[in-house]
Parts: sequence; structure tokens; C-alpha cells
Amino acid sequence: MAEQLPLKQLVLGSNPNGGTFNNLAYAGYNCHMINIYSPISEITFAKIFLPKLKKLGVETVKDLLWHFPYRYEDFSHLEKIENLKIGEEATIKGEITNVNVHRSWKRHFVILEILVNDETGSVKAVWFNQPYLKNILKPGKIVYLSGKISIHNNKSAFSNPIYEIDNKKGTTHTARIIPIYPETKGLTSRGIRYLMEKALKEFEKIPEIIPEPIRKKINIPGINKALNQIHFPENKESIKKAKKRFSFESLFILQLSNFQKRYTLSKEKAPVIKVDEKKVKKIKGYLPFKLTKDQKKVLDEILNDIQKDYPMNRLLQGDVGSGKTVIAAIISIIAAQNDFQTAFMAPTEILAQQHYETFKKFFEETDIGIALLTSDELKIFFSNGLESNPNKKTLLEKIKKNNIKIVIGTHALIQKNVTFSKLGLVIIDEQHRFGVEQRAKLTKNIKLLPHFLSMTATPIPRTLAITAFGDLNISLITELPKNRKPITTKIVPPSNRKKAYQFIRQEIKKGRQAFVICPRIEPSENNTEKSEDKRKTAWDDVKAVKEEYKKLSQKVFPNLKVEMLHGKLKSEEKEKVMKGFAEGKTNILVSTSVVEIGIDIPNATIMMIEGADRFGLAQLYQFKGRVGRGEHQSYCLLFSDSNSPQIKNRMWSIIKAKNGFELAEKDLKLRGPGEFLGKSQTGIPDIAMESFQNLKLVKESCEAAKETIKKDRQLENHLELKNRVKELGEKIHRE
Ligand code: ADP
Ligand code: MG
Repeated sequence: MAEQLPLKQLVLGSNPNGGTFNNLAYAGYNCHMINIYSPISEITFAKIFLPKLKKLGVETVKDLLWHFPYRYEDFSHLEKIENLKIGEEATIKGEITNVNVHRSWKRHFVILEILVNDETGSVKAVWFNQPYLKNILKPGKIVYLSGKISIHNNKSAFSNPIYEIDNKKGTTHTARIIPIYPETKGLTSRGIRYLMEKALKEFEKIPEIIPEPIRKKINIPGINKALNQIHFPENKESIKKAKKRFSFESLFILQLSNFQKRYTLSKEKAPVIKVDEKKVKKIKGYLPFKLTKDQKKVLDEILNDIQKDYPMNRLLQGDVGSGKTVIAAIISIIAAQNDFQTAFMAPTEILAQQHYETFKKFFEETDIGIALLTSDELKIFFSNGLESNPNKKTLLEKIKKNNIKIVIGTHALIQKNVTFSKLGLVIIDEQHRFGVEQRAKLTKNIKLLPHFLSMTATPIPRTLAITAFGDLNISLITELPKNRKPITTKIVPPSNRKKAYQFIRQEIKKGRQAFVICPRIEPSENNTEKSEDKRKTAWDDVKAVKEEYKKLSQKVFPNLKVEMLHGKLKSEEKEKVMKGFAEGKTNILVSTSVVEIGIDIPNATIMMIEGADRFGLAQLYQFKGRVGRGEHQSYCLLFSDSNSPQIKNRMWSIIKAKNGFELAEKDLKLRGPGEFLGKSQTGIPDIAMESFQNLKLVKESCEAAKETIKKDRQLENHLELKNRVKELGEKIHRE
């Protein structure tokens, strides 16, 4: 068995492929070694803007050239002065006949006024507090002005227009379609246009990275034309074409990166986990139910993967309650029977505890030791039914010696001091919370990589699945176990609050239980966030929940048992509260979103969500999935004080959605891929993110990448393309 690294290094390990680019082709700039990957600090004309460029995320020449406009202004039509109309925008060209600078005595303004003539008349233009303009706008010069005509001192005039002196070589800022860029203080679109014009001239021959046949097939312009047109377009049509090119380009590179990751992974060594059909059957026999068709299918897909000598890299998607945990348990036992260890990470302590309890049930008939490892709690369970609370040292020793085969836990599992001797399988529940980033890093620099399974109840829209998650194989569970009833979902306006409480009372009388979820203030999605942020978040949570708890327990339901749950409670307290609720002793559980994921309480039939508009669709869907797990009819009540039609519409989609996938598509449309994927995906360029919803282009890029890689595995015949793929890889991995 090869040497194993601590899991933390497996998951968070550094990127060994860092460093600079070799084999760079020149980018039309043959002085020294300057090319598009050169630091922007080496470019003379950019020097004075360096700090500002940095703020915009521009570090290389390429970053500058790829700093695309987010919109355009069409100033291409030249108007005659006699046709100017008050309140309208226009562009004119004329001679400056008079310049006048004076101070406004009413306000403390410096006003610069010029008079411009063309053959049809004259018009005034005024600027406030820009006295230096008098050094540029001198009498006798021919000037272009673009802007809105308003009234100044009872006369029509351009007020603060965009100006440009005619240099007989064409215009940059006026009299054309002009680009408007993401700006930063001290570097406006005007400044960026100046830089861009210079950069485009100096780097006018950038090597093409998209092979010609592909470019022809997709019908997109070459790199240099496209760059010129995206910044300084001739017309609207050329903007479209240039955008399409860069959308395709970024998707193409992303797809290539995915294929390369897959390829690299296929060259890694992983432990072979043998699958004995008879044993699998026996394990299935321990379950109190039959696996659904989908569960069987995904189990087969996974078992097929782990028998290979290279690592599995698979995402298991299935609605809340579709039975993913069972699958995790089955494959963990199979790994254990092969003498391999499994690390099973959950995003919250409560969930880790619940998984541990679930596993315990399944494991009663096997002779496998399992452990629970969270920052607050350590437990070992052996099949002889004995459970112990070992000290940390003992537990870590046992893990290191492979005396314990299955370790279930939270982030505590990836602490430096946790070392596995024979790790064969890593399972991560709700990977959205752990971040795609960490998963990507799992595959770095290690001789014997464990098989990797990520599980999520958040359905990933198809386009994202084949782009942002394109390096993963995906298994789907689309059907729920048969005994489930659809959940009735209602939006409750403030006027119906009392009625809703009455309804809850009735349900509880029948013996059911209810969740009440309060929004947390700060969306701290990521468990790896700085502890300070975490503390702040927890505090805000506590306040909201505490208030609601007080109100419900004292005023609304004084005769019922109401408990509260939030992230600030100690682990034992949390467990006590959860246990009380699970055993039916508590009627109502008021909670923050700690209850969001995976908790399984069949007798709870009401999910009431306060401030529902504060949550994302995916999150609401998760809450909803907390109920409807038993035999009784369940209800999801969305409370919102908001009257905004947009928000109502958003919540309606929860009601209308037939399944999680439909909702995911909607969520993607509403919030965009950035929000959907979370911060950990920020390495993906915006233009690629925007293109994720263009299914046709996504498919075309996937085909093209497949073709390219098929002929040239390592992209040795496409060096410039190889560099770009590598560049993206480094960006995505950068935290
Ligand atoms: P998930 O992790 O996908 O949210 P779980 O694995 O927690 O779902 O399963 C939810 C509930 O459904 C659990 O109580 C589990 O025991 C039960 N369950 C899982 N698979 C089946 C099945 N095939 N038939 C009936 N019940 C099942
Ligand atoms: Mg689950």
C-alpha cells in the first residue's frame, strides 16, 4: 500500500502545477519576451494605472484584453446641430469657436463653456468642475460631442458631454458604438478605452487558439478580429459575432479542462475495491426495504467505478429523501469488507450524527467498526452493540491503524491530525457546502487516490452539469421511494398568520409535529469561512430564532412543547433538542437553517418558513424536503411580508415545480450561475458563466473539445490552447 497523506492534504492540497507558462508563442510583440501572459506591469502605457487595474482583476496583458464591456452606447449617428432636440441624446461634430471658464457664484462650481459650430448652426456645451478641459478644448479645434441636450441658462446645451478632438484617424469615445466597461474609482471607461486601443495595437497578432475547422463550423470570427470587435465594434451585428466567439472560446477551454482532468485522473492509481455479488445481496438484505429502481442503477454505476484501478469521481444527485444515504452505507460496507476505510463528511454536526445513527442501524449485522468524529464529539460503535466515547488520541490511533473502517464526521475529518492508513473511499454529503474547489484539489499529487463520491440534493441544471461539473460522472436518482405523498405548499400572507397557527394547532392535536424555520441574517454558505464571520452569523441567527421561540412558546402555543435549535447551542444541547423532537416529545421545533439538510423525522408534517423570501429556491426546496417523509399528508407554509410580485413569483415556482430539476433551472435563470454555484466557482470567467444557459453552444463546445482532445491528448499540437487551458485551471484553483 502506498503512503497515504492526511485527508486534509488530499482535500485541500496545494496545486503542484503552479508556476508560469512555458512554450509561449509570441503575441505579435517582439521586444524582450513580452506576450499576452506578461504581467501588465511590464507594459509601459499601463504603468500609471497599475493599482487601479489590479482592482479590476487585471494582472496580465491578457486580462486587460479580456476585460470585456458589459454594455455599449451607440453614438454612431452624427446629428446636425440644427436638428438637436432638448432631452435627447446626440452626437455632433463641429469647430470650437469660443471657450469660457468662470465660477458660479451661486454654487461653488467652476464652469467651462464652449461654443461649437457646424454648417447648420451653433450649440453650447458645459462641464462642471473640470477646468483642465480648457487645455484640450481650444478654439479652432474640431471636436466631437456625445451626450444629452438639456437647458442651461435658458438655452439648450450639452451638459457634461463626452468629448473627443478630431485627430483625423477615427474616433474612440464618440461618433461610434462605444464600449462601457466595469470601472473602478479613478479608472473610467474612457481610461479603459484608451488602454484598450493601445493594447489592441501592440498585440495585434495574437495566435488563434480555436482550430480553423471548428471556427468555420460554429461560424465565429478569428481571435484578432473578435477582440477588435468586442471592444470597438463596427456595428451591432459584429458585437454579436464577437460575443459568440468568446462565449464559445471560454466554454471550449472549460470543456477541454474538464476532459484533461478526467484524463489525468484516469492515469492515477486507486485502490481496487472488489465487489462480490453475493455479499452485496446480503448487505441489501439488511435493509428494511427494497431499493428503488434508480437506487439500484446508481449503486451499479458506483460499484462499477470502484472496481477500477483509477479513482472514481462521481456526483450522486437525488431529491431530498430519495435515499442517497443508504447508497453511501452500502458502498462503505463493501469497501470495509475489502479492508479499506471510508471517510464520510457531512456539512453539519447534526447531520453527521444522524448519518452515524443510520449507519449504526445498517451495521448491526456486520462486524465493522464505525466512528463519529466532529469537533465536539467522538464516538465509536462496534457491531457487538457496544458504543464508547474514546478520547481523541485513542480514536485517531484506531483510525491510523485501520481498526476503524468507517469514519463519519464534519470538517473535523480533514484536520491535519486525522490520518487514514487505508483510505479507499471519500463520500461528501451536500458538496455544495463543501465547495467544488476542495473536490478539485482532491486529485492532486497523490499516488493512491481514494474513490470519490459527492452527494447532493440540489439538482444541478443540465447545462451546469456538463460545464461547471463536466469533470464528474453523474448518477441520478429521480424517483422517490413509493410510500411518499406529495407535499401541499402554500404562500401565507401576513393576514392569514392566525389561521395558519390554528392549522398547526390542529395538526399537532392529531399527533404531528412542526418545524418553524427563521432566516439567518448573513448567508454563510461555506463552512470553511473565517471563524469570526461564523460567530457573527451564529449570533444573528440566535436573535431571530430566540425571538420567534419566545413568541411561539409563550404567546401563540403556550400549551405546547416548543424547543429551539441553532448553531450556537452546544453539541450535547443540540443533540438533546433533536432527540426530543425525533422521539416526538417536542411539538414544535423553532430552528435556523441548521436543520436544512438531511434531517429525517417522519412524524413532522409541517414546515413553516418565516421570511421565506430571504432564502434561495434551492434552500427552500431543501426545507420542504424535511417533511413528507412518513405516511401522513405534509404541508410547507411559506411566510412572507413582501408584496413584490417578483418575490411572490419566485415562491410560486416552489409550488409549481414538479421536481427539483425544474426548480434548479429556474433558480439558475433567476440568480445566474454565479449565485447558483457559489463563490467557489469564481475562477470560471463571467462570459463562460453567462453562456452556461446557451445549451446549443454548450453542446457544440463539448463536441469540439472532444474532437480536439481525441486527436491531440496532451494538446501538444495546440500549445497556445494548452496554455489557455492551464491558465483556466490555475484560476479555478485559486482561492
Ligand atoms: P437522502 O439522503 O437522499 O435525503 P435518505 O437516504 O436519508 O435520503 O432516505 C430518506 C428516508 O427514506 C430514510 O428514512 C430511508 O431509510 C428511507 N429510504 C431510503 N431508500 C428507501 C427505499 N428504497 N424504500 C423505502 N424507504 C427508503
Ligand atoms: Mg441526505
